[in-house]
Amino acid sequence: MDKRSIFIISAAVIALACFFQFSRMDGFLHFASPKNESTLTKIEESAEVDGIELPTSSRETYLIVYDPHSVDSTFARHRLEWLLKQIKKESVSITVDDMVKFVPQNYRGVLIATGRVGLIKFIDKINDYVEAGGSAALFMHPDTELGDDDTRARAYRGLGIESAGAEVNVWGIRVLTDFIFGGKGYDSSRSDGTWYTATTLTLAPDASIEMETIDGVPLVWQHPYGAGRYMAFNGSVRDDKENIGILMALIAHCGDDAIYPVLGVKLFFIDDFPAPAPEGNYEKIYDELGLSTVDFYRTVWWPYMKDLARRYDLKYTGLIIETYGKQVTGPFAPSNGRQARDNLIVYGRELLDMGGELGLHGYNHQPLEVDGFLTPELYKKHDYVGWPNKGEMVAAMKELYRYAKESYPDYEFRSYVPPSDILDENGHEAVAEAVPTLKVYSSIFEGLTEDKAYYQDFVRNDDGTYEIPRITSGYSPTRINAWVVISLANYIGVFSHFVHPDEIFYEESKDLSWGMMHDSMRAFLDESFTRYPWYRAVTDSECADLLGDYLDMDYDVVREEHGMRLTTRGNKHPLRFILRSNHVIDENNVVGGNITAIADSTYLVETTGSEVMIRWSD
Ligand SMILES: [Zn+2]
Repeated sequence: MDKRSIFIISAAVIALACFFQFSRMDGFLHFASPKNESTLTKIEESAEVDGIELPTSSRETYLIVYDPHSVDSTFARHRLEWLLKQIKKESVSITVDDMVKFVPQNYRGVLIATGRVGLIKFIDKINDYVEAGGSAALFMHPDTELGDDDTRARAYRGLGIESAGAEVNVWGIRVLTDFIFGGKGYDSSRSDGTWYTATTLTLAPDASIEMETIDGVPLVWQHPYGAGRYMAFNGSVRDDKENIGILMALIAHCGDDAIYPVLGVKLFFIDDFPAPAPEGNYEKIYDELGLSTVDFYRTVWWPYMKDLARRYDLKYTGLIIETYGKQVTGPFAPSNGRQARDNLIVYGRELLDMGGELGLHGYNHQPLEVDGFLTPELYKKHDYVGWPNKGEMVAAMKELYRYAKESYPDYEFRSYVPPSDILDENGHEAVAEAVPTLKVYSSIFEGLTEDKAYYQDFVRNDDGTYEIPRITSGYSPTRINAWVVISLANYIGVFSHFVHPDEIFYEESKDLSWGMMHDSMRAFLDESFTRYPWYRAVTDSECADLLGDYLDMDYDVVREEHGMRLTTRGNKHPLRFILRSNHVIDENNVVGGNITAIADSTYLVETTGSEVMIRWSD
């Protein structure tokens, strides 16, 4: 061998040695290390006008009528005030006795937050107001006893009620029209349906029923009255948050051409991913597919998820778990599982390449709550171990953060999802303390009080972080989940779903094969995005940016004879609004934004600048 060959071989050996050493030291993780990349469009020039609050009188105002002697009605009053405030509308609340305060001509609509219509002293004035072209909406099922019969009869005349009978509990919903936009044709099964307290009633022939129960009890209807119209919801505001879209739809049908802001986004979370995968075979999967659990994830589940993302244009937010131990006191040792770490790197990078986001879930899967927060039954049922104090939670979260940063040194972890959707105040603080870059907490929207879960609304915390709830879940969503998709579209325009890779192994899934879960997930997404194809895919922290705009922005509406002018300010990204209008609007007849017909009498308006002029085409 000549000197030259020896030199080349030696050089190659040294290069290889360097390669392996570099690789062993995770040098490649620092090479082209993923960084956060937002795909959100920013507006060219922020139209922000600092510190200038518009005089409230220029906002659209609604009148709320409530009964201070009823807890339900008082609750409904506050709920409606909160909802109107969220969409930057004003409200004035008066009691059923406040005869003199009823000066209806300035209001966009009268919202009746009590079923006790027989108590409304000024019912004639409301009737006159509607007859002259106004709108009034009843938000609670009519009470057939309180107050005087004559007053009630006059209220019924306006509402289009011919006769009302007993209060009943009813199950199941059928949506007949796009009054709740995008909802037309929805039918829950009886067993799956949510329940309402409703009043059995017969409506006037000229009333139009928009929603009914499976048994045909009218749930939402409209009744023309003179030049205006009445609307009614035969349920109650106290019923679960899942009906919030009905409240918004009633508000949006007050007056013509109502417009209100939405986020217009879809989020999809994969909890416990990336995470360690169990070694060996799981009988059910092995029987159905002949694969080990690790192979199932790699060759079936993940390719299926990638296909879903392509098919439905989804961006995944994956939530990292380091171990599945139950340790709640330190020191929290780094996981030394090679497979877990490979999963984090391989799956995590693929997820990021697909436009997704990596967030944090837990060092392990024990919910962050100080021991005693949950009931003994819950600890037992779920096999949870409570944490001794906040300090241990901080230490465990710091280890998770270190573990995640080791594989993604240039990546900012911004999203946190609490294991099992449980998080107490200490846990919330622990996350903030351990993860300096944290921006958004995502738990769930609603559920049973006794589950002691962390229920959220779409809000910003005092420290500037956000709360973005997940709304629906699972590979085999119920018909109620499909209803909640419709309800949330009408409320704030958000689809937010989560799954677990190991759902097939759950006790609750014991009657489901992978094939069934595969199909039911697709059916749910087909239905959701056939109804709402205009949702934009975002990750959790991208959604937080848009939620920031939703909370900070403000807008004015000027109604003109042949159209409307919308002026916006305070936002950093284009805004989305829902316009409920019976006008024909050509998409070319809009300046300063884009408009798309998205359901019967419903348009999506997207701003490009700070002033949008929409002209009717009819
Ligand atoms: Zn989890």
